[in-house]
Amino acid sequence: MKIAVLYPELLGTYGDGGNARVLQQRMRLRGLRATVVEVSLADPIPAADLYLLGGGEDGPQRLATQTLRKRHFPKTVRGGALVLAVCAGLQILGESFAVEGGLQFAGLGLVDAVTRRGDARSVGNLAVKIGERTLVGFENHGGKTELGKGVEPLGSVLLGQGNDGSVDGYETEQIWATYAHGPVLALNPWFADHILSIVTGKELAPLKSVADDLYRRRVNALGL
Ligand code: GLN
Repeated sequence: MKIAVLYPELLGTYGDGGNARVLQQRMRLRGLRATVVEVSLADPIPAADLYLLGGGEDGPQRLATQTLRKRHFPKTVRGGALVLAVCAGLQILGESFAVEGGLQFAGLGLVDAVTRRGDARSVGNLAVKIGERTLVGFENHGGKTELGKGVEPLGSVLLGQGNDGSVDGYETEQIWATYAHGPVLALNPWFADHILSIVTGKELAPLKSVADDLYRRRVNALGL
């Protein structure tokens, strides 16, 4: 399995590159191999089983969007690629996103989602109900995201803001998108395994690690 981390020099502000390490380690602990490639602005986008897009500030986010377009990433996704997108990544895949000053900037148009500037930044703990599970993380963004009809949110907000105070992210057949940093897969081992089972097409053996205990403690500490 090959994981490509896209433009960590631009979309690495919030440590989301750690998601790749978590996936790789959870594979390794099961005796399975995963390679991680960091793709920089100068590189072509390689073939990969999963692409990771992290969070970043407005300026770098614009440059990342332009470069992804130039490197035909929309075609890669339309061709069936799987993507985990966090915060700026979530906004980039949508129709447009706002940058400071209120300017709307064209996204990659892969998902019917529009991000406008909110009155206040959304900063703090974020918890999201996804089916019977709870996803925990941190958020720090100025954008508020509106999903088009027919776009499924990833889950409903229990704590914090997510897209708009009521739902967080979106999920399509190929894309998981959330506002949660952490890195989100380090804080939510169940979500890491959910993604791994889909990417590998395998039912994965359960794994007991300190991450599970920390997850439970965090959920309790948040009173969820
Ligand atoms: N620049 C975007 C915003 O502020 C995304 C921030 C982030 O990735 N945390 O909305």
